[in-house]
Amino acid sequence: MESLSFPGRLRDRDHAEAPLDATLTFEAEALVATTASGHVQRIPWLGMRLRRSDAGAIECSSGGITASSVDPDFLRALEAAGGNDLANQVASLEGESVANPWVGRLGCTLALGLLVLALLKMPACFTRTTEGIAEEIPYSVDEAIGEFASDNMPVKGGVVSEDVLREAVQTMIDRISPHRSLEEAEFQFRIVENELVNAFALPGGHVVVFTGLLEAAETPEEVAGVIAHELAHVTRRHGIRQVVKAAGLTAVISVTLGDLSGLESLVVEVLQNGYGRDAETEADEEGVRMLVEARIDPRGMARFFERLAEEQEIDMPEWLSTHPDSLRRATRVHELAAAACDVEWEPLDIDWDAVQAALEEL
Ligand SMILES: [Zn+2]
Repeated sequence: MESLSFPGRLRDRDHAEAPLDATLTFEAEALVATTASGHVQRIPWLGMRLRRSDAGAIECSSGGITASSVDPDFLRALEAAGGNDLANQVASLEGESVANPWVGRLGCTLALGLLVLALLKMPACFTRTTEGIAEEIPYSVDEAIGEFASDNMPVKGGVVSEDVLREAVQTMIDRISPHRSLEEAEFQFRIVENELVNAFALPGGHVVVFTGLLEAAETPEEVAGVIAHELAHVTRRHGIRQVVKAAGLTAVISVTLGDLSGLESLVVEVLQNGYGRDAETEADEEGVRMLVEARIDPRGMARFFERLAEEQEIDMPEWLSTHPDSLRRATRVHELAAAACDVEWEPLDIDWDAVQAALEEL
């Protein structure tokens, strides 16, 4: 595991007079000092005392063991790593109050802050933004969230297993997914009998397509456009970003530990509220990129947005209200499609009449 470490010195009972050079490593529950000869001492965060030596080094002590470093970033790292108690000590060393929102966010649970670092391999998170943090989170966390949401999200309507419908959606995904930007992303889907003109994707790649979407589309390219947009939400990891933004790292830790029980309402809420305008725009653009590379005419996507704009008055699902307005999106997609004027489109190999007939028989 990549971990945060600083050059420093170690003083313990055996080396009280002549401190040893040591590497100070931040671990989940302790600062660990390791000398060149392999002598190791652990100073737990809990109960650690800080002081500044006359030489200006920051000394961390507990139980007769002292590790110190003069590295200018050491103090900052301690502040973020050791919970509120250490942060307060850092603040008093600096003669200022605790103003770092990270400290509050990581909260009083001492081990938690470091657990984040250990589990998520993001030792430099102290200075990172939400975006940066999300990038350091392994994709398996997206998958865990998606799995959880998939099991817990109330979706009205039975699952449709008609071959002709499943094959149609599978054909679209098979054409688009080779062009995804995130290789580890894999997609599963289900079709749900529901009149909503909608599809959505959960983090980790669970796609839900409503029969209403298939019915409303006049060509398979229109549906492929919506699906490309949804796959882009997955590969650009908008779900995990939104969860981190909404709930902070504690949520991510829970997820990483496999405990999602407290997050049910949050995850569902995040997904129902949409990912925000910027993410929607990004998903449109990334969706078009994938469509173009797959040689699926993105004007189908634009046409679909136009259709949505026409139907905006009719019983629109809530998520659409957070999507940038459909006409503006259609215009943008047309622009992007026009930029790909050299591409020779390859129609999707789907019998759309057969799809419509199968839908009628449901
Ligand atoms: Zn979207």
